[in-house]
Amino acid sequence: MAQLQPQVCPICSVKILKLVGGDRVLFSAGPPGTREILWQRVCQYTQKPGCINQKSQ
Ligand SMILES: [Zn+2]
Repeated sequence: MAQLQPQVCPICSVKILKLVGGDRVLFSAGPPGTREILWQRVCQYTQKPGCINQKSQ
């Protein structure tokens, strides 16, 4: 059985779980959300190399 490890963005300090039907983003505070929410709340402000939630991909 494949146990999927959550991806951790070293820039934004959030965890991304790969789930069927869409990725689940676990924030350090607040309810979990989607990659879109992560982008809107965090990643669009950082945009540093190493962020695993780059919009351009
Ligand atoms: Zn990020």
